[in-house]
Amino acid sequence: MGLQEEVKKRKTFAIISHPDAGKTTMTEKLLLFGKLIRSAGTVKGKKSGKFATSDWMEIEKQRGISVTSSVMNFDYKGHKVNILDTPGHEDFSEDTYRTLTAVDSVVMIIDATKGIEAQTIKLFKVCKMRGIPIFTFINKLDREAREPLELLDQIEDVLNIETYPMNWPVGMGKRFLGTLDRYHDQFIRYNGNEEETYIPMADMEKEEDIYNHPTYQETVEELELLDEAGDQFSIDRVWDGEQTPVFFGSALAPFGVQTFFDTFIDMAPAPRPRRTEEEVISPDYPDFSGFIFKIQANMNPQHRDRIAFLRVCSGRFERGMNVTLARTGKNIRLGQTQQFVASSRDTVQEAFAGDIIGVYDPGSYRIGDTLIEGKKPFEYDELPQFPPEMFQRVTAKNVMKAKQFRKGIEQLVQEGAIQLFRGYPTDSMIIGAVGQLQYEVFQYRMQNEYNVEVMLESIGDRIPRWLNKEQVDPKLFDERNLLVKDREGEFLVLFKNDFALRWFTDKHPEIDLIDLYEVN
Ligand code: GDP
Repeated sequence: MGLQEEVKKRKTFAIISHPDAGKTTMTEKLLLFGKLIRSAGTVKGKKSGKFATSDWMEIEKQRGISVTSSVMNFDYKGHKVNILDTPGHEDFSEDTYRTLTAVDSVVMIIDATKGIEAQTIKLFKVCKMRGIPIFTFINKLDREAREPLELLDQIEDVLNIETYPMNWPVGMGKRFLGTLDRYHDQFIRYNGNEEETYIPMADMEKEEDIYNHPTYQETVEELELLDEAGDQFSIDRVWDGEQTPVFFGSALAPFGVQTFFDTFIDMAPAPRPRRTEEEVISPDYPDFSGFIFKIQANMNPQHRDRIAFLRVCSGRFERGMNVTLARTGKNIRLGQTQQFVASSRDTVQEAFAGDIIGVYDPGSYRIGDTLIEGKKPFEYDELPQFPPEMFQRVTAKNVMKAKQFRKGIEQLVQEGAIQLFRGYPTDSMIIGAVGQLQYEVFQYRMQNEYNVEVMLESIGDRIPRWLNKEQVDPKLFDERNLLVKDREGEFLVLFKNDFALRWFTDKHPEIDLIDLYEVN
């Protein structure tokens, strides 16, 4: 098969949501479609983000390292599906954000009883800033939920994206009858514990109990209004991340999941060209290339090895091939690669744009590194810096270990495990993270890999805002609004809270405060 056909088949996406919205339940249904698991209710242990299904454990055992749950892939109706896990709960970290740089689209799950929640907003912002197409699934329609129009309004207001409902619920909770599938011009009937049924709109009169139901008639009218007053569907706008198709359903029932997934798989973009510093590389460019978006250290002290996650962007990856690390020009043989192919067969020997492979990392890679085959050297655009939200001062417990301490921090910063800031003018070390887990990993690895016990002192959650160099005046800042420098030597202020930020803005309107989310 030619490169172009291989690329076209690939659909690489992540599911984002707030904890408890139904990501695990949805993922499980998709794995069932992909025949990766045999029965529902087997995917558990969501707290750790790990899949502990009996099927899954077996696969993990064979692979010998528990990273398989980070990337799941399967064949589905002629497509090659890659689902990248974005851990939530206490596993939330910068890796979660970086994973979003490696996907071609995103499925956003919203709990219909709660509407948009905090973690969804954070992850959404990253997608929006990168122009990633977003497909919305509004879940838990089998429960008493918010009004559909209210939910759409909230998405438009809070997330600032156009919505296009692909279907429309008829009733909800105990009175839930099904959905009007606008896109396929059919009614999907909710049959409780029985499987859903599909009725073409033209035949609805025959479905008397539904057709004559007042809720059904009301909803049909509501939808007519929406047809007139709402936004037009535009696949171009969807692909540009300006419009999100919205699907209503229930992951648990399951209801509307099959239609959602089939439509999503058809509409979601295959891998697209990717920007390098100078040009754009097409996914069917013949030479292999890819970039590293995540480095995972093995926490087992007996196996200190690390796995770098690489997203293939062009060409054909073959096991054992020679590539160049663009940053250093060093030649590397990709012998020990790990394929995140969740079938019990042997590892697949090749991969194409859109696929994710795990590369054994002896300590030579950094987040954002480009690996290329062929003579023409290029580097993919740097990954964006994600503003941390929590900050801690860090010192070595034993001052005699200053050297290892610095070395360890430098390494871990380079790997992207944490972000480092220096107090100004004190030069104290402050590390920033987006999730608590990052501190735990940091402390553990400093102790185990560099033999340094570190002391962390929290300075709380903060709001970082970058400054223009020429406007920096240390006198304006103090412990509440802490002036620090980032790795590149740029100045920023860590504001204590919203109030402090607003107070400062009022008092010093002349000073520009830059929110990284808005400039990346
Ligand atoms: P996650 O934290 O986003 O992975 O959420 P889960 O998939 O673990 O779901 C959280 C809870 O919501 C679980 O108790 C699920 O059984 C339940 N849940 C998920 N989807 C639905 C749904 O469509 N309807 C109802 N009633 N409950 C659901």
